[in-house]
Parts: sequence; C-alpha cells; structure tokens
Amino acid sequence: MDFRPSEEQAILRRTVREFAEAEMRPHVMEWDEAQQFSADLLPKLAALGLMGIQFAEEYGGSAMSAVDYCICIEELARVDPGVALSVAAHNGLCTAHINSFGSAAQKATYLPRLVKGEVLGAWGLTEANAGSDAAAMRTTATRQGDGWVLNGAKAFITHGAIGGVMVVMAVTDRSKGNRGISAFVLEHGTPGMRAGKKENKLGMRASDTSEVVFEDCRLPSGQLLGEEGQAFINTLQVLDSGRIGIAALSVGLAQGAYEAARSYAKERHQFGQPIAAFQAIQWKLADAATKIEASRLLTYRAAYLKDQGKRMTKESAMAKLYASETAVRVADDCVQIHGGYGFVKDYPAEKYFRDVKLTTIGEGTSEIQRLVIARQLLSHS
Ligand SMILES: Cc1cc2nc3c(=O)[nH]c(=O)nc-3n(C[C@H](O)[C@H](O)[C@H](O)COP(=O)(O)OP(=O)(O)OC[C@H]3O[C@@H](n4cnc5c(N)ncnc54)[C@H](O)[C@@H]3O)c2cc1C
Repeated sequence: MDFRPSEEQAILRRTVREFAEAEMRPHVMEWDEAQQFSADLLPKLAALGLMGIQFAEEYGGSAMSAVDYCICIEELARVDPGVALSVAAHNGLCTAHINSFGSAAQKATYLPRLVKGEVLGAWGLTEANAGSDAAAMRTTATRQGDGWVLNGAKAFITHGAIGGVMVVMAVTDRSKGNRGISAFVLEHGTPGMRAGKKENKLGMRASDTSEVVFEDCRLPSGQLLGEEGQAFINTLQVLDSGRIGIAALSVGLAQGAYEAARSYAKERHQFGQPIAAFQAIQWKLADAATKIEASRLLTYRAAYLKDQGKRMTKESAMAKLYASETAVRVADDCVQIHGGYGFVKDYPAEKYFRDVKLTTIGEGTSEIQRLVIARQLLSHS
C-alpha cells in the first residue's frame, strides 16, 4: 500500500489548480449568473487534455488513469463545481459509454471530436417519470426498415441543448423489461430531436441542463450503440465509474468550501479575537478536514480498483455516498462560519452551498447509493 501521489500526479494537480485559479476563478459568478457553460472555456479545457482525460491517445485523448481523473475533477470543483460537473458528464457518461461499448467505427467517428472538445457530450437516461427507477423509461426506439425511430423525452440532461453528440437510452422491447433497453448515439441537429425546457437551477448553474425531445427521430441502424437489449446493464457499468467522478467532485467542492471557511475564520474578529480562536469554529474545521480526507481516500480507492480492472460497484457507491454527504455538511458549515457574509454573493460560501446539493442527487441519490451498497453487502457473505 502506498498513499503517495506520483511525481506526475503532483504536477498534474498543480497544473489543473493553476489553470482553475487563472482561467476559472475570475469568472465563477459571471457563469453562475449567465447559467451557461462557457463556450470560451471549452477550448482551454481541451488544450489541457481535460475533455478526454481517460481516453486513448489514438483518439487524441490524454490516456490518464482513473486516479488522475479524480485529481482533475477535484481541482476543477474546488474552484467551480458547475464546470467540474460538465467536464465529468462529458468524460464520464457520454464519452465513456461510447468508448466502452461503441464499435470501432463509432469510436473512430465520435471519440476524436469529443476528446478534443470540438463537441460536448450528453447522456440521456433520466425521464420526467423515471429517475431512480430508470428502467421505467417510456422513450421508445422502434425498428423501421433498416433503422430505428425514436419517440419520447429525456429530462435533466447535462448539455441536452448544447451537446454535439448524445447517447440516449430507449426501450426496444418492452416485454423484456431491463433487457429490452438499448442505447443509440446521435448528433445534435438530427431531424426529430430538439432541446426542450432549459432548467433554471438552484446551483451548478455553469453547467447547462435541459430536456431533450424525440419526435419520429429516424436513425440508421449503425447508430445502435452496443448490443440491442444490453444498454441497461451497460449503463450500470457507466454509472459505477461515473460515481467516482461525482465523489471526486464532492471532495474538491468540500476542499474549496473548507479553505474559504478556514481563511475567513482567521480574518474575522469578534469579541476581540479571530473567530478561529473559538473552539466551536475549530471543531467545525477539524471535522471538515477529517471527513474530506476520509472522502478522498474512499474515492481514490474506488479509482484504484477501476485502474486495476476490478469491479468497484460497492466502493464507488460508498465513495459517492460519503463524499457527497460530507460535502453538503462542509458547505453548510462554511456558510455558518461566514455568518451573515455566508448568505451574500460577495463571498464564495453561498455558491458552494447551492452547488453542493446536486452531489447527493445526480448519478444516483444517496438513498440509491445505500441501496446499491446494501445489495452488494447482502449478496456476498
Ligand atoms: C443538474 C442535474 C444534472 C443531471 N444530469 C443528468 C444527465 O446528464 N443525464 C441523465 O440521464 N440524468 C441526469 N440527471 C438526473 C439525475 O440523475 C436524477 O435527478 C436522479 O437520478 C434522481 O432521479 P429523480 O430526480 O427522478 O428523483 P426520484 O427518483 O423521483 O427520487 C425522489 C426521492 O425518492 C427517493 N427514492 C427513489 N427511489 C427510492 C428507493 N427505491 N428507495 C429509497 N428512496 C428512493 C430518492 O432518493 C429521492 O430522495 C441530472 C439531474 C440534475 C439535477
């Protein structure tokens, strides 16, 4: 067992941290107000290799490990969790799904543009009436001639309106339940596909979230992604890894909130001394630092298992559950330590507090993580 980051990993962390401080920090509130993923930022993220973190060099990717991926997402989230969410959804959902289950031709068509950041990726599983119970989806893909016709709507899709490439899950044979769901890959602008309502969100506002509607959307047979009927199982695998990304995002967000709280506690004076001198404040900081370290270790362990090619369903769910619940607590304490200044937009505390809540909801709620963990615990003696 070795807890040290490699020299390359230390350099990677420093590089992404410096990038986030220089290119993102000055714009955090502007992007939050605009409620848009910054088109100016995309080529800069791509130039650093962050739009294709774990993908092969043959497609233009950075070929980094899952642990490296965590470091990147953590450092982006420390400064702007909304940007980190967009980068994680692009890498960990859409691009990862095509990379893991696409044919050689599909990979050659889509991966180079995705990993170079020429287009953003979107991934559509959730529907208005099928969230945690995703297999209850109503969107259908019906065979017609040599292709498929998609009908239905996906809800809460990151980059739903602006993604250039989308992976979408649809029912191809309702009689087969979970095994009657298939995935398709399609381009933005395909006739019959359109963006629906753009969500006006509490937090993560630097990341676009929209409904996507399909009305007699015709796809050639080559757009089927993976085997027919296998998409639900494939999706569970994508989410096992995706959750490591949300865990890393939670660690980074909590780290950012903790650092803001610590600096403020040292500067702010009440009763003739810095508030950091009060034990009540010290304990909040001590608990935050301890739980962030525990979250980071759980997250890196799940990523390490992924790098070893091992199954990590339980470990990624544990990391996501613990890190996101920790981040919610740390962001709450960050506002509390700032007092009234935590409630206004002149300080970063209120934004961390708004952004953080997504971490216990997206890619499976905390309740669903507990369900996944319990299933794993009870199915192995
Ligand atoms: C900003 C944002 C971005 C998103 N991006 C994407 C995306 O890119 N692609 C995509 O497909 N989806 C995306 N989602 C959707 C997200 O994954 C879902 O919101 C999430 O899975 C929860 O589904 P739901 O909202 O329908 O809640 P519901 O499933 O209706 O849950 C409501 C409540 O009931 C609880 N609950 C449900 N079932 C159980 C159970 N069996 N046991 C105990 N409690 C239960 C839940 O934990 C929750 O507390 C995004 C959501 C947001 C907010």
